[in-house]
Amino acid sequence: MKTYNLLVLCILSAALLSGCEAGLKRQAENLDSEIEKQIDEFLRKMTLEEKVGQMTQPGKHGEDGPSDIEDEVRKGKVGSFLNITDIKQRNHLQKIAVEQTRLGIPLIFAFDVIHGYRTIFPVPLAEATSWDIELIERTAEIAAKEARAAGIDWTFSPMIDIARDPRWGRIVEGAGEDPYLGSLIARAKVRGYQGNDYSDPERLAACLKHFAAYGAVQAGREYNTTEVSERVLRNVYLPPFKAGVKEGAATLMSGFNDLDGIPASGNSYILTDILRGEWGFDGFVVSDWRSVKQLIYHGQAKDEEAAGIIGASAGVDMEMVSRTYENLPRLVRQGKFPEEVIDQAVRRILRIKIRAGLFDNPYADEKLGASVMLHPEHLKIAREMVRSSMVLLKNKSNHLPLSKGVKSIALIGPLADSRKDMLGAWAGIGKETDVVTVLEGIEQTVGSDCAVHYAKGCDVLGDSKEDFAEAIEAAKQSEVVIMVMGESVKLNGEGHSRTSLDLPGVQRELIQEIYKTGKPVVVLLFTGRPLTINWVYENIPAILIAWHPGIQAGTGIADVIFGDYNPSGKLTVTFPRNVGQIPIYYNAKNTGRPPDANDRWTSKYIDVPWTPLIPFGYGLSYTVFEYSNLQIAKTKVVLDEPILIKVDVTNTGNRAGQEVVQLYIRDLVGSVTRPVKELKGFKKIFLNPGETKTVTFNLSQDNLKFYDRQMNFVVEPGEFKVWVGPNSAEGLESGFEIVE
Ligand code: BGC
Repeated sequence: MKTYNLLVLCILSAALLSGCEAGLKRQAENLDSEIEKQIDEFLRKMTLEEKVGQMTQPGKHGEDGPSDIEDEVRKGKVGSFLNITDIKQRNHLQKIAVEQTRLGIPLIFAFDVIHGYRTIFPVPLAEATSWDIELIERTAEIAAKEARAAGIDWTFSPMIDIARDPRWGRIVEGAGEDPYLGSLIARAKVRGYQGNDYSDPERLAACLKHFAAYGAVQAGREYNTTEVSERVLRNVYLPPFKAGVKEGAATLMSGFNDLDGIPASGNSYILTDILRGEWGFDGFVVSDWRSVKQLIYHGQAKDEEAAGIIGASAGVDMEMVSRTYENLPRLVRQGKFPEEVIDQAVRRILRIKIRAGLFDNPYADEKLGASVMLHPEHLKIAREMVRSSMVLLKNKSNHLPLSKGVKSIALIGPLADSRKDMLGAWAGIGKETDVVTVLEGIEQTVGSDCAVHYAKGCDVLGDSKEDFAEAIEAAKQSEVVIMVMGESVKLNGEGHSRTSLDLPGVQRELIQEIYKTGKPVVVLLFTGRPLTINWVYENIPAILIAWHPGIQAGTGIADVIFGDYNPSGKLTVTFPRNVGQIPIYYNAKNTGRPPDANDRWTSKYIDVPWTPLIPFGYGLSYTVFEYSNLQIAKTKVVLDEPILIKVDVTNTGNRAGQEVVQLYIRDLVGSVTRPVKELKGFKKIFLNPGETKTVTFNLSQDNLKFYDRQMNFVVEPGEFKVWVGPNSAEGLESGFEIVE
């Protein structure tokens, strides 16, 4: 009887549940059509000027338009603002929009929340090197919470441009060179910002940028032209965007770049045919800063009027800063522009404003910020991300970690006591005063029993060697030297392309001088891009990359240097030997004459090896991981059947640690040529000393698809090689075949 009752209860609750789910689904469908009806209603009432107002996003000072922004809002001429971080000003403007305009449509406030709002995390390129997707989602979630508490509704992030050229300063803002990893990170960030519902007062609407292929700027020169074949566009540059759209990103930003002769902000093929037509994106597209007006300088439009027509028709719904769309109402009246295009753009913008909950809750809570910003939990995660994103490049004779019992340390270098450089590019409202410097972090960890001799040694830039002597003296007085070197924040980010990737200024010379003292030297490298560090890599026994790690720099770095955390980061960009090798990336083509050291007539250089200095996926640990027993369940699989791959990983060292186990494939023969290696899976695992874990990959064939000869997205039957290992250049090898 009892069992019977339980069964009935189960059946009943299951029925109730599924009924409830169906109800929810219906509700969602109704909600959508409700939203569309609400938009229809607005569109019926709106004047042409009010519609174009929704498509207008001036800067906070009303750049390119009248500077009386309040008056502009009152007239319904503004749909959104960017860069307003004063919450009172935000609410004041919102009040005008909601209470003093004819239709009361709220504004949406945007800001570049790139790697944190007030709690600044490591720069995005650094976060990627953690290969910790959950942690990346978590930092985005915290960024969203803080930004929303400051009245920001919408972030211009994630930046998901694949970048294969470290000369480009903006490589720091993305996840690196790989489309597979880049796609997972794009999705994680969208989830982190938006959650399931970005009307939640702790979430933000996301913006995938910069659509598309901006990372392919020629010669790494900022804002330069991009020449990308359609296949490369689809196989390499678009996957993170497609993934982000699939994850439900609310908006996208069109890029600055000229893409195969049609600037991205006037490119209907990518903005309409692919984005909306193929991918079904229903959010809106915002231009980049004046990128619609810049269609004139590209030579696509003869004047502002033409630029506005091209931008809006291509599918740029909202114009950032420039005001070319102001011509549209007149053009509609003159019969020169279809009102439907404007209606479509306004519909998309209102849809996102409704989904963001702005009609229900237009105002931000002015009291919330104090309890949210820099919350101890946020700082804890920031520290965790600093540690996880550090990459150990070299550790000869187990130089690191340093013992906490060390009695004297020389801390040398222009970044050792720097605050602003720790914040990194695009650090939002991050404050220097929130930063724990490297010097502070180390001093706190070693305590008063250890003498820390700090000497700047030189500046980041410039050729003065005046302070070398003091640094050499500090080294001589100490048991060990930590050199804190690299790029300042000003050397990367937007508008900061470089043609030399060497350590700037006289930093390398300073390292050489200190090296001559014979003291054990650790180089701690701060950078937003791969640098050419050949001499350092060959000669210095221990090298750790710390990137630009954000406000918890000193604490996270000290954790790694003194062994409280065992480094586990792996590069997501290739480090070249010199600038002449660029572009150099691991997933390149084989060519008809693959490099062969013994054959002059093969694809290589006569002055440097063809291989990079440090490959994609590389990073060491304080312990040692050994790979064995690579097994593929079936070496012949039929189309669509997943491929089960297993490998054993053993920690043979004497410290616990994490390893990023990487799975690469090569599709040996294709209707179009395929890369020599492609990342298709990874797992970050934790192993105690002596422990072995079997790592399993269930490789879906969807993951093997690419754009074929006819530009169809398919898997082609045939043979595949498989490698599982610690980076893109090493690993156990096997293979399988897909049969029809
Ligand atoms: C950048 C964008 C950024 C925008 C707004 C532009 O210069 O390219 O990435 O979101 O400014 O600040």
